[in-house]
Amino acid sequence: MTAVQSFDVAILGAGLAGRLSAWQLVRAGARVALIERGGPDGSGSAAHVAAAMLAPLAESAIAERRIVDLGIASVDLWRSWLQELPERVFFQEDGTLVVWHARDRAEVSLFTSRMRAVAPPELVLDRLRPLDGNGVGQVEPALAGRFTQGLLLQGEGQLDNRGALRALLACAIEHGMHCVWEAGEIDADALPALGIRAGVVLDCRGLGARAAWTDATEALPGLRGLRGEVVRVHAPDVKLQRPVRLLHPRYPIYIAPKPNDLYVIGATEIESEDESPMSVRSALELLSAAHSLHPAFGEARVLELNVQRRPTRPDHLPAIRVDQPSRVVRVNGLYRHGWLIAPAVTEAACQVVRALLDGDPAAHAVPSSLRWPGMIASVHEPASLARGGFPDAGGGLLH
Ligand SMILES: Cc1cc2nc3c(=O)[nH]c(=O)nc-3n(C[C@H](O)[C@H](O)[C@H](O)COP(=O)(O)OP(=O)(O)OC[C@H]3O[C@@H](n4cnc5c(N)ncnc54)[C@H](O)[C@@H]3O)c2cc1C
Repeated sequence: MTAVQSFDVAILGAGLAGRLSAWQLVRAGARVALIERGGPDGSGSAAHVAAAMLAPLAESAIAERRIVDLGIASVDLWRSWLQELPERVFFQEDGTLVVWHARDRAEVSLFTSRMRAVAPPELVLDRLRPLDGNGVGQVEPALAGRFTQGLLLQGEGQLDNRGALRALLACAIEHGMHCVWEAGEIDADALPALGIRAGVVLDCRGLGARAAWTDATEALPGLRGLRGEVVRVHAPDVKLQRPVRLLHPRYPIYIAPKPNDLYVIGATEIESEDESPMSVRSALELLSAAHSLHPAFGEARVLELNVQRRPTRPDHLPAIRVDQPSRVVRVNGLYRHGWLIAPAVTEAACQVVRALLDGDPAAHAVPSSLRWPGMIASVHEPASLARGGFPDAGGGLLH
């Protein structure tokens, strides 16, 4: 028989939300178990393949104001949290460069008018800088002479996603976190069989939590996957210093530089949960667009052709669900903005977890002091979904 170990919090899923939450909770003194279907390299997560651009202004061209606000708050958190990690993680706030080929200039007014409609006016004023051809060359010497106009979105950020996943995990383990790897497709129900008993279960399984977010009576699934494909290349001859977005009516792409002359070229967004390898068409589109940005991509070496599905709710916004009776908190719907918004979203989720552990009566529903109340809902899940909670195990465990 498996010996039972008790924890304050059991976190399901060691992707982006899982690792960020684990790190915050162990730092606050909680005893945490992290349980993941795959291995510690995170290769089964959307977080592992992402470009990890932290671009609230650029995203405002396609997202809602809430994402922009969460993004601004989160970039501030990344800036200070990454400094607290013992392992250095590549992080920069040198902006995003937006360029376009002359025939596609109609895209520019669409892009900027969407940004102006959604982003706070002071953010647009502060960050949006139109460039002429010389300006493009000054900002990115590798693109000198290639474009007659551009936009610099000043202060937009970017980080090394794989480095961040590694560093968060290492730090949480150093603080005594217990990990269970290769656990298979588990839900809260499976914890007793793994010998784990917890005061609160925090579900961070991304798309793996689809069933828990889907109400059979609703027409749309409460959570669906949106297929995204990216190419990772080694291109020592290119020398881009910041993420570059190429506006295009059919093949808008971004190219995000990573340390050691690596670049992530992405990303498709396909309304499909298909997990099969990248299509030839997507590879051609992504690589042709990169080659049109800079011919030296022709000599780049393709290291990876990656496919993942973004966990997406019907409104494309993140959400936190709190089932107080069964002590299960679920975080999901990070969609295409996970790296941009996860610090603020998981900070809110960890606040709820702490309130539950402290036996805070206000946690009976949703703590009213939370900064993003509209993101958090109190639910009472059917027993079949929530039965993994351990109502008798919580209360005042956190220091
Ligand atoms: C191609 C692509 C590019 C992206 N680029 C960006 C970007 O530039 N900027 C940005 O902000 N965001 C980007 N994102 C979005 C971001 O990666 C996601 O929003 C984020 O990773 C979602 O975090 P998550 O923790 O909810 O899910 P994930 O990161 O997918 O983590 C879920 C974890 O749960 C585990 N799991 C699942 N089911 C189970 C189970 N049953 N039992 C145990 N474990 C389980 C998985 O193995 C995984 O480790 C991109 C995403 C994609 C796909």
